[in-house]
Amino acid sequence: MHTISNYINGELIAPCAGNYLDLYNPAIGQVYGKVPDSDIADIALAVKAAEEAFIAWSTTSITDRSRVLAKIADLIEENLERFAQAESIDNGKPVTLAKSVDIPRSASNFRFFSQAITQFATQAHEMTDAINYTLRQPIGVIGTISPWNLPLYLFTWKIAPALAAGNTVIAKPSEITPMTAYLLSEICMEAGLPKGVLNIVHGDGIKVGAEITKHPKIKAISFTGSTRVGKEIAKIAAPMFKKVSLEMGGKNPNLIFADCNYDKMLNTTVRSSFSNQGQICLCSSRLYIEASIYEKFKKDFVEKVKALKVGPPDLELTNIGAIVSKLQYDKVLSYIKLAKEEGGTILTGGEAVFPEGYENGWYIAPTIIEGLDNDCRTNQEEIFGPVVTLMPFQTDEEVLLYANGTDYGLACTVWTENISRANRIAKNIHSGIVWINTWMLRDLRTPFGGMKNSGVGREGGVEALRFFTEPKNVCIQF
Ligand code: NAD
Repeated sequence: MHTISNYINGELIAPCAGNYLDLYNPAIGQVYGKVPDSDIADIALAVKAAEEAFIAWSTTSITDRSRVLAKIADLIEENLERFAQAESIDNGKPVTLAKSVDIPRSASNFRFFSQAITQFATQAHEMTDAINYTLRQPIGVIGTISPWNLPLYLFTWKIAPALAAGNTVIAKPSEITPMTAYLLSEICMEAGLPKGVLNIVHGDGIKVGAEITKHPKIKAISFTGSTRVGKEIAKIAAPMFKKVSLEMGGKNPNLIFADCNYDKMLNTTVRSSFSNQGQICLCSSRLYIEASIYEKFKKDFVEKVKALKVGPPDLELTNIGAIVSKLQYDKVLSYIKLAKEEGGTILTGGEAVFPEGYENGWYIAPTIIEGLDNDCRTNQEEIFGPVVTLMPFQTDEEVLLYANGTDYGLACTVWTENISRANRIAKNIHSGIVWINTWMLRDLRTPFGGMKNSGVGREGGVEALRFFTEPKNVCIQF
């Protein structure tokens, strides 16, 4: 049994009330640890520590802040194996994925913002008899709230820019996948991050997340998670005039034209549909295929997806690991049932899988469905699992209507070798991120986020540093 501690004021401590939640290993469907069930008292301690630490941290030189963040990046890299194993056990994702994507990217988040802050400049506006310059100052105590699908990757994506900009932070990882955030606390101590600068408070959303959102001394909230919870946070934060960044759900389209580079498209579409069991906010779940290649694509795609190995996350050969929780597992299976009721045909998958020796784990075969309307619930609601639908289209105008026909607008993928079409689609699609002839190719300097119900604000590069600072204009007349 692993027992996780909160990290408050530079120390690993038990929750004030001594309560814990069960922590599950989804590969075997069993409890393997305990995570603090923190409450208002723990948040109060964290806020006090963060407030006290703010004065010194916000006036620490950029060079020194940058050095500590770079050290944290080094230590994550040195502990790659341990972090990857922990992430895989906690989340159910294949350990190979954690090792090649999640943990390296978490280190990159710290390294990137340790460098970005050294290049962060402000503006000056000249007048004939005066000059304006803009200061960008740290805000104070920041709250970050993150989800379970890319646990350390998204946790650090918020913390790193907030700290780089000179803020102190109260961070809440998902209670479903808290282990690598806990390991990060140990690394922060080793790296010499001053006490109280980062405080990690574990617990559930209703108690800890909501308390962070409504605490008057927490001046800004950076949230990644579902649209439902994003709405709750917006409701509380808006009348308090807190700065809010919301990264929420998606229902991403993948537009496949007949003139695409077919082999590259096919291989990438398998990844963009089913990586991390389809539990990446950027995964495509609606696949629109130009009618002339629909049947060929269907045959080839089904064949490739059938060959994916569903199994224990710790095996090197596993492509599809376990679904993160029983709740999510039941939700995904209920959507597959709904798709059938809505008239969909299951081309492959569509059921739970019980790998030998892991029969109590939560595994679902990668599922491809065809024959559904664009407007049905299966094609409108976020499933967030290994489930995609196929739909044919005839013209660019038609597929744009389909692609834009949901409440979401996070990411989209377009496959075509026609440069005019690619640019026309990119311009007219309702999504914050457009990938043409690729998927999940990330440059951390670019704005990241969604439109419509997928998000408010942008993260990444200078956008994140702007979010985590307050601009102040100074005007001097000569
Ligand atoms: P979730 O919204 O249930 O939980 C996210 C976080 O919010 C967790 O830490 C949770 O404890 C906390 N929380 C829950 N209720 C809260 C409340 N009332 N007040 C404050 N905090 C609360 O999301 P999830 O199930 O953990 O993650 C899956 C969702 O995240 C999907 O919708 C997915 O699309 C989305 N997501 C979006 C992005 C993006 O960049 N847009 C990235 C990853 C995941």
